[in-house]
Amino acid sequence: MHSFRLSIPDLARFSHTTPMTTPSTTPPRPGLSTADLVARARQLGTVVPGFNIPYLPMMQPVVAALRDTGSFGLIMVARLEWEKFESRSLEAIRDEYLRVGDRNYTRLHLDHVPVIDEDDRTVDFLEILGRAVQAGYDSIMVDGSRLSLAENIRCTRQAADLGRAAGVAVEGELGAVMGHEAGPLPPYEELFASGRGFTDPNEAVKFVQESGVQWLSVAIGNIHGAISAAQKDKAKTEARLNIEHLAKIQRATGVPLVLHGGTGIRKEYIQQAIRHGIAKINVATAIRQPYERALKQSVAAAQQAVYDAMLVVIHQDLEIAGTAKQLLAAETAKGR
Ligand SMILES: [Zn+2]
Repeated sequence: MHSFRLSIPDLARFSHTTPMTTPSTTPPRPGLSTADLVARARQLGTVVPGFNIPYLPMMQPVVAALRDTGSFGLIMVARLEWEKFESRSLEAIRDEYLRVGDRNYTRLHLDHVPVIDEDDRTVDFLEILGRAVQAGYDSIMVDGSRLSLAENIRCTRQAADLGRAAGVAVEGELGAVMGHEAGPLPPYEELFASGRGFTDPNEAVKFVQESGVQWLSVAIGNIHGAISAAQKDKAKTEARLNIEHLAKIQRATGVPLVLHGGTGIRKEYIQQAIRHGIAKINVATAIRQPYERALKQSVAAAQQAVYDAMLVVIHQDLEIAGTAKQLLAAETAKGR
């Protein structure tokens, strides 16, 4: 087993090797763009993981684990994590990123900003995305997956236009990645067998072409970890992936694909998914639950639990140790 345990006072030693200035009207985004890094990951047959931060103190051990293993990853927050958890706001996450982030190993991504949220409320998504761009986020996501195809395209195109103007990559979602809704999930095997909610390859082509989105989040059997008070501590349902279906979406669209709900999928599926177009994978439950469990002891213990969980994800689940150097080597190559 791994012996990378660091005490939290040791973590402080590593903080902040790349100072950034406070964002102004055009916040600096030093280094290679996230779009380039994800494209490069796909070329190299590896993946860029994104780690959700529902509690601000989780960020430091996530960054430390990436740095200590030489891995590249995205630091992410979703709207529901400041609405229903304790990340406070996208600005609070940005401030914590300025404090503990490290651009040799990370970039900052805004995850799920829904047009219609998990409680069926309409969200002023463009206002939130605009604030994220102003705050210096390197990439953003709009989630119109609860809309009709035409409405999803229309809203995602607005987000893509905003992203293009600011030079940040935009991720959209087509199909239903379930799990964030209140109440229990329908029986998983039934869902998987029927393919209900899966991203349709033909719709995906139209969606990508007409919206102008850079990355596509797909539904191919993956599910989100539950977040309702009654469900969020429970072990996540093990999910499978329909790789053949993924390959069709990949051939049809040609863009980097994103897998949400990365926790609780067997490794063979993850590896095949990376071979068939998944270039970004979102990880939330695998680090959130250890944090919440250890928080009963102390924040320091909870941070240590996140660090330990990160090592398992990095070394065992995704095998991405050392990717930072590989991906950022493109920066040197590009500069020549
Ligand atoms: Zn998601």
